[in-house]
Amino acid sequence: MRTLHALHGVASLALLNLTVVLLASCSRADNDVATYRLLAMATWVDITLPRDAAEREPELIRSIETELRTFERDYYAWGDGELAALNRALSESQEFDASEGMAAVLGEAQAIARTTGGAFDPGVGALVERWGFNSDEADRGSAARPPNEAEIAELLAATGSIRDLAIDGPRIRAQSGRYTLDLGGIAKGAAVDRILARLRAHGVTPALVNAGGDLGVAGEPAERSWRIGIQAPRSDGMLGAIALRDGEAAFTSGDYERFYDVDGQRMHHILDPRTGLPVNHTQAITVVAANGTLADAAATALFVAGPGEWRSMAEQLGIDAVLRVDASGAIEMTAAMRDRFQPNR
Ligand code: AMP
Ligand code: MG
Repeated sequence: MRTLHALHGVASLALLNLTVVLLASCSRADNDVATYRLLAMATWVDITLPRDAAEREPELIRSIETELRTFERDYYAWGDGELAALNRALSESQEFDASEGMAAVLGEAQAIARTTGGAFDPGVGALVERWGFNSDEADRGSAARPPNEAEIAELLAATGSIRDLAIDGPRIRAQSGRYTLDLGGIAKGAAVDRILARLRAHGVTPALVNAGGDLGVAGEPAERSWRIGIQAPRSDGMLGAIALRDGEAAFTSGDYERFYDVDGQRMHHILDPRTGLPVNHTQAITVVAANGTLADAAATALFVAGPGEWRSMAEQLGIDAVLRVDASGAIEMTAAMRDRFQPNR
């Protein structure tokens, strides 16, 4: 299969330029572990599992790939999948019957948007599009001219918040307004959770799903714990390593993931829904949470929250392990993160 390659052992991951690389995930010999690599959601997704399980269930990896293909189409706002159809229906004031999975993700996104006072809000889609961060083009510096103040004000006024959606089981309704829901801040987490749930359901643990540096784990490697590296936002190096336990996920939001420079100023893909502007007080936020969906959305929310607000917002989200790199490169973290963190010296 073209996009499916079995790599030989987790060690090869270290060669990849990922936001987070696996340092030492497994005490078993590398030969006992297989890593499958897929390209999905504009990133490499590496699935690491015991080699005997992979050999026992070749169809499992193939079915995960199929699910990921459907997922990336359905959760991308600018394609021809379910989310695009939902946005069209909402903007025409029509009700939409969502799939079970989509309704669940929308429900979680809405709860997090409400808890964070809209710091996390997938309703920012029209702004994301206007800034040019809905595609990889921005990475190549070919982004469109940034919006001016008047354009931003107009887009903000026309932006429907996910907080105001009526989600009634599978039935989604908007009160009024235009909607471009963009699930880019939470979908990768939901995808990681789905893959891990499927592996668990087949009894395949310990397993690690690493989507471009954002990852979740199922089970515990024998004798050692999961340890993952955290990428430094302004160099190829690592800030350090953090320990993860069974079921946990670690997600990072960074201003280095999708950006372009305008007059020496960095314009990047995480916007403050209140101002419509890229956030400029933070370089990166790493969050450890009980699942990928929450970790992903929380990292985006805490990125937006800023110096005075991120600690209390983390508490409200029920998250205790957070690491923040501010605009100057200074690192701060919660006590629970300090307990798991080993700095690179
Ligand atoms: P992440 O890398 O998980 O922080 O997600 C960033 C992506 O989420 C961006 O590329 C946008 O598609 C979308 N996004 C940007 N700002 C926000 C926000 N404040 N709330 C929710 N989603 C956002
Ligand atoms: Mg996120």
